[in-house]
Amino acid sequence: MTEVEAGAPVLVPPPPRGRFGAFGGQFVPETVMPALDELAAAAPAALADPGFQAELGRLLRTYAGRPTPTYFAERLTAHHGGAQLWLKREDLLHTGAHKLNNALGQVFLARRMGKRRIVAETGAGQHGVATATACARFDLPCVVYMGVEDMERQAMNVSRMRLLGATVEPVASGSATLKDATSAAIRDWTTHVADTHYVIGSVVGPHPYPWLVRTLQAVIGVEARRQMLAEAGGLPHTVVACVGGGSNAIGIFAGFLSDGGVRLLGVEAGGLGLASGHHAATLGAGRPGVLHGALSFLLQDADGQVQPTHSISAGLDYPGVGPEHSQLKASGRASYTAVEDRQALAAFHRCARLEGLLPALETAHALAAAGELAGTLPADARVLVSFSGRGDKDLDTVLAADAAGAGPDREGA
Ligand SMILES: *Cc1c(COP(=O)(O)O)cnc(C)c1O
Repeated sequence: MTEVEAGAPVLVPPPPRGRFGAFGGQFVPETVMPALDELAAAAPAALADPGFQAELGRLLRTYAGRPTPTYFAERLTAHHGGAQLWLKREDLLHTGAHKLNNALGQVFLARRMGKRRIVAETGAGQHGVATATACARFDLPCVVYMGVEDMERQAMNVSRMRLLGATVEPVASGSATLKDATSAAIRDWTTHVADTHYVIGSVVGPHPYPWLVRTLQAVIGVEARRQMLAEAGGLPHTVVACVGGGSNAIGIFAGFLSDGGVRLLGVEAGGLGLASGHHAATLGAGRPGVLHGALSFLLQDADGQVQPTHSISAGLDYPGVGPEHSQLKASGRASYTAVEDRQALAAFHRCARLEGLLPALETAHALAAAGELAGTLPADARVLVSFSGRGDKDLDTVLAADAAGAGPDREGA
């Protein structure tokens, strides 16, 4: 691949009225509409501008570390005994996950729009750290809303954000977690809309966010497709990615959507099992509803109340999902499965021991499903996995789970 191509953003036009089939849209109060209209006008213009593309592409290469490699996981392949497993290494991106592709792009866009201030919400802190990183780089003040519950659980990421110069604003209302932090960030945005940009962390929220975040993450799939052709000898049989809000999955799927023969498999958090009710398998067990400004699949009770979720992985622990995933499920272009906590833990240990890679627990969900699938396929087939992030942030969780009895030897890792 050429230096110029690597890392350049990939442009697809925004969907009409922000709809992905029946899903998406803008289910927001009137006060938010001017800000969404402004963003919906400015974002496509900026992303289509060769100057903007060149500058963002240069930053993605020289600052963030693109292109990330696509790696043949030889020992994991031998373990599963079937198709070749190839890993798209977003763990090697600066800050340790795919999230910086989006945060860097949105903050760069906000600066071009003349915004003087950035707000964001964060749950586990990964998106907050990526946004604080981009704001440090572009010299923009950054306020990250975070539930007090999450601040306690993710103290290290709170410190990281503060070291990067961001203000972490504690949110004590409601359950004091991601959902409440999101509401606080939206409130801030709507009262400072003239000078503030709100950086959403996944392919969720009202139009144009699902399209904007997808566009900024599509670099993963475009690179991976080129790398599979050049280095793996052909396209994958299936592309596998974990799905929280769905941005790393949409990003890698985007490179293969028009390859009709390539299957797309999204992996949600099965938690303690779908039957237990303690999971975050939105597409697997939810039904359509509105959350955070868009119509999509949603985990809700019979009265339409959003259900509490559970996953060992904080990044997948979300009751909603991006509207494009709902469309991909409805159309049958992608399929979705769930992996339970214990399966993800086993995949974490397997990957650590066989490949010398500590995956994020989110990523471990994709690895578990990909390994199982590979075992059913012939040796000349290829399975491409979105290796969305590194697992250093999850060591406490893994060690605690091991101590509680779900150790590395339980599932033959
Ligand atoms: C945040 C995160 C996810 C989940 O977010 P998506 O928007 O679904 O990609 C997955 N993997 C890692 C490493 C993350 O940090």
